[in-house]
Amino acid sequence: MPESKSIAQLCKIVKPLLSWYRKNARRLPWRENTDPYRVWVSEIMLQQTRVAAVIPYFLRFMEQLPSVEALANAPWDQLMKLWEGLGYYSRARNLQKAARVICEKYGGIFPDRYEEILSLPGVGPYTAGAVASISFEQPTPAVDGNVLRVISRLLEWDADFSRGAEKKQVAHLLAEIYPEGQCGAFTQALMELGAVVCTPGTAPRCTACPLQEHCCACAHKTQASFPVIPPKKPRKREDKTIFLLHCGDRIAVRQRDAAGLLGGLWEFPNAEGHLDADAAEAWLWGHETKAGKITKIAPKKHIFTHIEWHMDCYLVLCENTSPAFTWVTKGELEEKISLPTAFQKFSGELAL
Ligand code: SF4
Repeated sequence: MPESKSIAQLCKIVKPLLSWYRKNARRLPWRENTDPYRVWVSEIMLQQTRVAAVIPYFLRFMEQLPSVEALANAPWDQLMKLWEGLGYYSRARNLQKAARVICEKYGGIFPDRYEEILSLPGVGPYTAGAVASISFEQPTPAVDGNVLRVISRLLEWDADFSRGAEKKQVAHLLAEIYPEGQCGAFTQALMELGAVVCTPGTAPRCTACPLQEHCCACAHKTQASFPVIPPKKPRKREDKTIFLLHCGDRIAVRQRDAAGLLGGLWEFPNAEGHLDADAAEAWLWGHETKAGKITKIAPKKHIFTHIEWHMDCYLVLCENTSPAFTWVTKGELEEKISLPTAFQKFSGELAL
């Protein structure tokens, strides 16, 4: 696709898109002002997560950790509790790491240059582009799935956008048409159009779209063919056996290794593979646990982006509190322990 032709075509969308956004922007809590801390936290939360799900998390986060400094100094358990249920916990770890960098390197003031923002832990070109344009009025596109969908349909661009090089090309084209003094509004307008009008699947709302007369896919009724989606790799399957161990009013939990999936979070004790009754008893012995009654619970499945867990489960009434685990009350489990959703699926099975 010739670059000059694409830029000429994209230039035509700037005015109608901005005017549509001014009238139609949803009122969202992170749009109350352009404070880079709020924009950054919201953009990180919104990765892989729907707007409606993020709103209560964002409000709670801002109430408890209203500044970069508060985030940098937050106790680990408080941060994990604030993130509990949002998934992709490495995002929260990186937020705190980045907040510490901002405090140490920039005196607690959010950096305003794209390259500096991009160098923060957990910040990629999308987030850096969003913060630099929304908070600092720089012509730095933020190219996410919504934006790619809009651009690929407007230009009938059939590239594989899962590749970094193609995404960069979109960012490069968009940078050429960013309107001076309205960079933040333009970034948000493109995202908004992708989120509420140019929606995924076969039925974008073209009749409500301010860009209809400039859109190739709409003219040729090829909307459903863009963006081109490459076939997904199958997820890796992992089998596990979860143990809900009770002793009196206590439940056993343990903390996961800091590195890797769900690193540093809490979990119910568990073993790799699906253990039959004999193997489960042997595992309990190996963890210094004297079991009384053992009941098998219905299996459950949890899906991560690239992995899926197939979990069998035993509810075990124990005669001792093995030192292999941390023993907590149900109240402590609910209020202080950050238990990922994969394990929360079994919380309703606790016998307390
Ligand atoms: Fe998307 Fe339709 Fe608008 Fe084209 S006209 S950008 S396909 S909503």
